[in-house]
Amino acid sequence: MQTERGKLTVGWLVVEDLAMVVAMVLLPTWVHIRTQVVNGEAISVLQMQDAGLAVALTLGKVALFALIMLLAGKRVVSWLLHRVVHMGSRELFRLAVLAIALGVAYAASAFFDISVALGALFAGLIMAESELSQQAANETLPLRDAFAVLFFVSVGMLFDPMILLRNPWPLIATVGIILVLRSLISAGLLKLFGQSRETTATVTASRAQIGEFSFILAGLGLQFGLLPEEANDLILGGAIISIVLSPLMFAIFDRIGKKAQAVGAVRLAAPTQAPPKRVVLVGYGRVGSLIGKALDEAQATYSVIEDREDLVELLNSSGVAVIAGNAISQDTMERAGIAQADVMFVTVPNGFEAGRIVELARTLNPKIKVYARAHSDAEVEHLRSFGADLIVSGEQEIADAMIENAAAVIPRRIVSSA
Ligand code: AMP
Repeated sequence: MQTERGKLTVGWLVVEDLAMVVAMVLLPTWVHIRTQVVNGEAISVLQMQDAGLAVALTLGKVALFALIMLLAGKRVVSWLLHRVVHMGSRELFRLAVLAIALGVAYAASAFFDISVALGALFAGLIMAESELSQQAANETLPLRDAFAVLFFVSVGMLFDPMILLRNPWPLIATVGIILVLRSLISAGLLKLFGQSRETTATVTASRAQIGEFSFILAGLGLQFGLLPEEANDLILGGAIISIVLSPLMFAIFDRIGKKAQAVGAVRLAAPTQAPPKRVVLVGYGRVGSLIGKALDEAQATYSVIEDREDLVELLNSSGVAVIAGNAISQDTMERAGIAQADVMFVTVPNGFEAGRIVELARTLNPKIKVYARAHSDAEVEHLRSFGADLIVSGEQEIADAMIENAAAVIPRRIVSSA
């Protein structure tokens, strides 16, 4: 997400999803027209006007809903989330996020005849505008994981493996369309827009599979009798195979992209210079802020992960790169640039929470040097087992400093006789 390629990839996928939304909205109207054509009924100018009106009405409703959401919804939701977050209860915040998401989705379908899925998408769009969006996203992360699992379970249940034997050639053709045709179109377009070979490779690889939206569209087609059952099986089969092959596609295209990069590097032959150390600082409270000041003085490149809203605002206003959210989330960690970092300071006060943060950082970047904060021997052990390089126990350090100072003040005799 932090590279140009990543942004292009995600942007492309989002635009595809939005195009799907238009398809979902217009499909019922299209079915209406088609039925008449298939039944041999002459479509009069009047009926065409009807159909045109129906399309205009559908699009009008979507536009009205979008307008209301983006103008009023945004303010109301932002206000509501702030009110709730200031009550200080995580559970309440989580409930509020869920209630907003489901409420907007329901309102979309109840009052605007818009699908629940599209309503939920708008709920997400307006919540993304709030400064609390990262926190809201974190609260829904467990749900997202649960839904992702459910998604794959349902795909597995819907899939009829016999299609592999019954219809191997159409299935191969389907997979070919997804892997080859889509890739060719992407690569062609990217080249047309003058993108580098590396970017082209990544984006192309990311598009060589289809996912849940294709099932929704196929499901609608089935429901309206536009699509035979067999075609639905082919789409499911094609999706499963393309998703399974996705890592392979990435590996292949990565190699193609890397080759281009290596050639470029030789051509440029830039003078080598030791790259500056990059630091991720987790927590900007009493401990973290002191480390931050030291990093400022050293003119180090660093980003902060902090989940307290006031601190995030403070950091934002002083121009420090800050990611709002819980460091336990992989998404937050990646946005903070953990993969490129050399050093991480974990200053969160709860050593066990810190353990999970260290563990995650290690999996995302095995080479990173990790410094962590602890308060008890149990926490020190815990952090060590998760791979922290240096663990500083607050209480131990305080005691050491006191004893060291006391040695100068308290007569030796008393200390040694104790
Ligand atoms: P202090 O104990 O004063 O050094 O403050 C610790 C800081 O770490 C606070 O500002 C918390 O908001 C922050 N913090 C605690 N846990 C997390 C976490 N899991 N992710 C991000 N920030 C955190």
